[in-house]
Amino acid sequence: MAVINTNKDHCNRREFVLASGLFVVGGLVSCDELETKPSTKVAKQKTKPSPEPISIRVRIGKNAEKVTIAKNTFTKSTIGDKPLKVEINPNTKVTINGKTKTTSGLIMLHPNKNNTFDVVLHVLVEQYLPGVLAGELFAHWHPATFASQAVAARSYAVNLHIERKTTSHFDVTDGPSSQMFLGDVTLDVAHRAVQETNGVVLRWNKEIIPAYYSACCGGLAATAYDAISGAESHQITPLQGHSGKDKCAALKIRSWNTERSARLLRKRLNACANLMNIPSFADIRSIRSIEPSATNQHGRPIKLAITCRRKKVYEVRAKDFMRAANTNVSALPNPQRKLWSSFLVGKKVGSKLELSGHGMGHGVGLCQYGAQEFAGAGESWQNILAWYYPKAEINS
Ligand SMILES: [Zn+2]
Repeated sequence: MAVINTNKDHCNRREFVLASGLFVVGGLVSCDELETKPSTKVAKQKTKPSPEPISIRVRIGKNAEKVTIAKNTFTKSTIGDKPLKVEINPNTKVTINGKTKTTSGLIMLHPNKNNTFDVVLHVLVEQYLPGVLAGELFAHWHPATFASQAVAARSYAVNLHIERKTTSHFDVTDGPSSQMFLGDVTLDVAHRAVQETNGVVLRWNKEIIPAYYSACCGGLAATAYDAISGAESHQITPLQGHSGKDKCAALKIRSWNTERSARLLRKRLNACANLMNIPSFADIRSIRSIEPSATNQHGRPIKLAITCRRKKVYEVRAKDFMRAANTNVSALPNPQRKLWSSFLVGKKVGSKLELSGHGMGHGVGLCQYGAQEFAGAGESWQNILAWYYPKAEINS
């Protein structure tokens, strides 16, 4: 079963753009890590999607103490111990912790044990998607980028709905640990993309795939098996990535540089031995250099060799290294500069470790910056999807 990772290890596109020293006009905000917790289970779809329209269950509030829906305020005491259904009109304002979303659909309030509740919006998938696209892409991007993103986001959400409908009270969250969702939006290009691709999803052997995507693959594709989890469902051909360089490889924005205190980074890795349950992190005594020691079939690093002062080499999974380096540890100052991807190398200069890398996010499936390049060159959304999800069936 695919499980949404609710940790805070995510990336923000505006931060990335600013850190890269580039200015992009207009648009929005965040990208998606879309990681799932490691699972060795086969995510088998037991049932085919119902011919009835699917409502995606979006958790828009976690452990809320109060929610205001239109003019009505709900707390745990007004809800009681059973889920409460609240019918809403289109374009209803929902306010949780001072943040307001305008939404349509219906709202379920699910009590938790700790005197709080989850706020879950049930919204028809086609009505849900414009709010995803408006949160995931820059508003001025190409209609074909929006259309390819619409199909990927629809496939991702419907796959999760099928996986989770009997095991969880929500399918997706509304933030970057899942996919962004801004509520009802008026962005025309987003609505047109959803209408143009109405009902179209990506399938493999007739089953809808979890169509992961990220902001920028850095030029070489990651595989879902390496970058998301070892689940057998992640070994399907469409999630193994394209062969050869991606269109984003020509973009300046695909590359990043940063530096860290070598000593603090080493201490952070040591602390993550327990926090992330990776005991080998505790053995690292110093960091001189970080180089790829194994790559996937496309040449993207999947393991990194950390060489210490005494030339001893520690091999770690690239995605674990990136996650640990971005983790807040109580005894250490929080990392000021994020590592944007696991596609990186590092070298010690003085007391600093200079790190440089490519891309932003896990690099599996559609690359948003690459898709925008393809679209600008006149490619159709179908061709864009065929490149990023090799051999996937594209149909409704
Ligand atoms: Zn790319």
